[in-house]
Amino acid sequence: MIRKLIRRVFGLGDAEPETFPLEAHGIRRENISYGSRKVCEILQSHGFHAYVVGGAVRDLMLGVVPKDFDVATDASPEDVHRLVRRSRLIGRRFKLVHALFGDEIVEVSTFRAAAPGEVDEETGRVLRDNVYGNRQQDAARRDFTVNALYYDPATQTVLDYHRGVRDLKRKVIRIIGDARARFREDPVRMLRAVRLAAKLGFTIDPKTRAPIRELADLMGNVPPARLFDEMLKLLLSGHAKACVQRLRAEGLHHGLLPLLDVILEQPLGEKFVHLALAQTDERVRLDKPVSPAFLFASLLWHEVLAAWKARTDAGEGRIPALYAAMDEVLDKQTDKLAIPKRYTATMKEIWALQPRLENRSGRRPYGVLEHPRFRAGYDFLALRAESGEASGELVEWWRRFQDGTPEERAELLLPAREGGEKRRRRRRRRPGGAPGPQDAGPPPVLAD
Ligand code: ATP
Ligand code: MG
Repeated sequence: MIRKLIRRVFGLGDAEPETFPLEAHGIRRENISYGSRKVCEILQSHGFHAYVVGGAVRDLMLGVVPKDFDVATDASPEDVHRLVRRSRLIGRRFKLVHALFGDEIVEVSTFRAAAPGEVDEETGRVLRDNVYGNRQQDAARRDFTVNALYYDPATQTVLDYHRGVRDLKRKVIRIIGDARARFREDPVRMLRAVRLAAKLGFTIDPKTRAPIRELADLMGNVPPARLFDEMLKLLLSGHAKACVQRLRAEGLHHGLLPLLDVILEQPLGEKFVHLALAQTDERVRLDKPVSPAFLFASLLWHEVLAAWKARTDAGEGRIPALYAAMDEVLDKQTDKLAIPKRYTATMKEIWALQPRLENRSGRRPYGVLEHPRFRAGYDFLALRAESGEASGELVEWWRRFQDGTPEERAELLLPAREGGEKRRRRRRRRPGGAPGPQDAGPPPVLAD
């Protein structure tokens, strides 16, 4: 008893976990995914231990549908790979196995221990954590008590080293061990605490929460690509709005989207960002696809607008100024949070479509309609209209134009002078100099 108390006070975790039977947690083996059940069965039939761990156990106990299922085992990655027929070894630094069952990918990791002496002296960040360990060590290196539960499908029991079940009941996110040290080891945990609290409607335990504000700057040491992955999880959690509000409340938003705090201070910008986040949350909850590029384009739009205006005020041409503004904003952003190229390319297309959507005369609307990102550009325009910065009438026009028959489209077109920008440049020729069709089908795409 005293040993137990001492271990608990020092946050060491008990050597023996608390065990919860089915009646206490309610997770039946049928509730876990086919793939994770199968992996556990295969490994256990060869004498290994295997458990469903992490977010899936937590979510199932809360009646939330888990996003994915992870398995932890004492079998080595090579053993897992050998025993599970459709599987692949991944990772160089720390090996994992992906087991494939139809569409499902189960991530199988071998028990790990936090490696002492592998911490960066200055920042406290873990540089290497690739040491195999036992189940107890594996539990201790996890981030929060509610994420360190082990479910054994064979016996339908939950093993709990850190009072995670109690914290689940109390709806508390509590770090395992000393908060300051664990956040120094890996600052991303601060972000995860906020994301989980917002997603689950939990509070962050005061001792876990206290050092966050002070350590927020450590986010600057996290590799931008990793930060992007966690940020994406946050934004696509279905609780993006709540997450961003909490990030702000904890003073964590500076290091993430360095431009976001500026934007949130402008009334129109704030409205726009909140609408974008609310819309994303809605789509996630309805199980509709969400485009990260669209979302990031929304988050940074007002920054682009500001940079664009500064340039046109300084006399730059409208369209070149927009392109330069886009690059300027993305460059500034990428230092902290690396938005992958495949997204930034789409973001630029969405932004660049905005002035083109203003033009409703001549053949240009046909070209815009053919643009591969037309739909995203149009949705973006609708979002701008909803926040009050674009005209609802323009959105309605495009809705009718895209749904219209060729005759209806022709009727919708405005005479050249009312159509927005006057044509300043000569129309470009099609490749090869051939003239575009004059009477049949949509006219050729004209680059603006
Ligand atoms: P989600 O529902 O978003 O998937 P999750 O808790 O499952 O939430 P994952 O990123 O899938 O999050 O991580 C799986 C598990 O790995 C976590 O539950 C936790 O036990 C452990 N883990 C993940 N990231 C960290 C970290 N930075 N430090 C310590 N443990 C971590
Ligand atoms: Mg998970």
